[in-house]
Amino acid sequence: MRKITADILFPVSAAPIPEGVIITDDQGLVLDVTSRNEHDPASLETYQGAIIPGFVNTHCHLELSHMKGLAPTGTTLLPFLYTVVAYREFPMEEILDAIEIAGRDMYEAGIMAVGDISNKLDTSAHKDNSPILYYTFVEMFDFLQNDLAESTFARYYEVYKGQSDRNGNRKSCVPHAPYTVSPELFRRINQANTPGQTVSIHNQETPLENELFRTKSGGFLDFYKKFGFPLDHFLPTHKSSIHYALEHMRPDTRVLFVHNTTTQPEDIRAAQAWSDQVFWATCPNANLYIENALPNYRHFLDTGATVTIGTDSLTSNWQLSILEEMKTIARYQSYVPFETLLQWATLNGARALGYEDTLGSIETGKKPGLLLLNLEADLKLHHTSQVRRLV
Ligand SMILES: [Zn+2]
Repeated sequence: MRKITADILFPVSAAPIPEGVIITDDQGLVLDVTSRNEHDPASLETYQGAIIPGFVNTHCHLELSHMKGLAPTGTTLLPFLYTVVAYREFPMEEILDAIEIAGRDMYEAGIMAVGDISNKLDTSAHKDNSPILYYTFVEMFDFLQNDLAESTFARYYEVYKGQSDRNGNRKSCVPHAPYTVSPELFRRINQANTPGQTVSIHNQETPLENELFRTKSGGFLDFYKKFGFPLDHFLPTHKSSIHYALEHMRPDTRVLFVHNTTTQPEDIRAAQAWSDQVFWATCPNANLYIENALPNYRHFLDTGATVTIGTDSLTSNWQLSILEEMKTIARYQSYVPFETLLQWATLNGARALGYEDTLGSIETGKKPGLLLLNLEADLKLHHTSQVRRLV
């Protein structure tokens, strides 16, 4: 048994507790949350700083870890995608080593669970043996070609079958983005999933996405031409791209919209009216890396949206650290309070991935991981803030 205490404890599910004490068993299961005066000081592990629960990273592509630093920054999404596609051949050993290192770094950085996009099986063995819980989203796309949906689904379903679902890991079939998934492929993905699962989709990462759906114009027309997929059959919906996703996804799963850089309040409200299990993953450092833009977080606060935090991949980020994502939001949009950021980084992410029974907050019966965090005197994040794993 351990009795762990620090200057302040942030359970997330309850108000902060100055000098709170967490009693855990040797495996990190929280047995009780109490106050310091109930204990003999000699029996306590006492730290300076704040104790917070472990982080949940709701968006990553672990299988792209080997491409760290290869894509130039600030190019916007389509040139970024062209660069990524151009880098195809890497030795498998290099790919697997990079996955191993990135996974270990995420654990060291206090991450307990990851929502991870996979197109391949490269990460499966690593996930089977990781202390991190992985929700693998096997991602499918057919470039809006209904007649390719059947073969696309069959190919990726093989990847789905091989993905890790051991040791608490989970998996689902997911659409890549509104601009790459045909109605027929959406239908097949829906059939493969069941209520309660989590389905993720990239959403409104670039202004071009809305342009395609509103007026069938902009950079995506060239993108389709370049990859040789006809768009003659595609009719503009005259609405923002998220409406196409809402029309074709099932509202009885948890749905995680990822990026949301150009998402407006009316988009959020439309999704909230469609389902009460909608989550909004933000990946600020990747947005800065690729598009040199950030979502307007006021839209999400004003609409009561359930925001979560992701790192995206090392192809579009400098590190896989939820704390670094929180610092970026605090630096650029400092009106978001620390406790709100912390909830995005922990409990909201656990709910999005269906791990809220064990992770995301410091409560009796959970095994959330415990992190020591140094804050400024006014309990704000500073660029020197770091986390250290206590459990
Ligand atoms: Zn992504």
